[in-house]
Amino acid sequence: MTDPRKALVVPPGRDWSLADVDPRDTSLVGDKEKAKERLAADADSIAEWQEKLFAERRHALLVILQGTDTSGKDGTIRGVFGRTGPMGLAVTAFGRPTPEELAHDFLWRIHAACPRRGLIGVFNRSHYEDVLVGRVRKLADPETIERRFRQIVEFEEMVASSTTILKIMLHISKDEQRERLRARLDDPEKTWKFDPGDVEDRRHWDEYQAAYQEVLVRTSTKIAPWYVVPADRKWARNALVAGLVRRTLEDMAPRYPKPDFDPADIRID
Ligand code: ADP
Repeated sequence: MTDPRKALVVPPGRDWSLADVDPRDTSLVGDKEKAKERLAADADSIAEWQEKLFAERRHALLVILQGTDTSGKDGTIRGVFGRTGPMGLAVTAFGRPTPEELAHDFLWRIHAACPRRGLIGVFNRSHYEDVLVGRVRKLADPETIERRFRQIVEFEEMVASSTTILKIMLHISKDEQRERLRARLDDPEKTWKFDPGDVEDRRHWDEYQAAYQEVLVRTSTKIAPWYVVPADRKWARNALVAGLVRRTLEDMAPRYPKPDFDPADIRID
């Protein structure tokens, strides 16, 4: 697979359109069998890199996952990090802010959940909700939302001093979302996942797409670019996300630290 980062990146400061990304596109990963092989190899490789990251404790990796309801954020985390040691991973899901969270600035809970050096942090939703649902559902006035855009970019620049930030949007089509919501209602083992609020959010589909378009273009920066992953096909989605994470870790290139003693000098009685 050629480096998926080139094809999937939202180029910072340039014209770009979400509508041009086909959620069904699988051309970057080949057929299903190939994609599954790649996913397995990359998931193993991610686990190995993570051990070095942990041993070295110099940097952290933060993977931010965004996407509409049913876009597959949970399944992606399982598929991509299923082989990574649980001690090296810090997964945080952000739902509606609690009264305590609302009593602070919107980045308070986000900053507190950022991974310490040595860990891979994964955000299932993030501060981007505050400029997505915040805008579509008018939870904040336009001036506040506008201010948040600037604050997000500055915040990420600060976090990036110790942390590599990888921002990924899982892009599904409206038809695919209908199928997935339907499946939740039809399968008793999936019904627990159905949230009537998702149907309400679906009515605002176009507004969410417009909000995403703005977010992606305005907050894709050199230091923390966005990648948009076609996500209608779960196998292609997982292979692409694993490819993005593995390559990012490879570039970070953590190494086992050299001991400051000579192991040959140590006697164990
Ligand atoms: P999920 O739907 O991802 O499985 P939850 O239902 O627990 O998880 O929470 C997600 C909901 O919380 C979504 O509707 C999302 O828009 C909302 N949410 C997340 N962050 C915020 C925020 N900062 N402000 C308002 N709503 C938010």
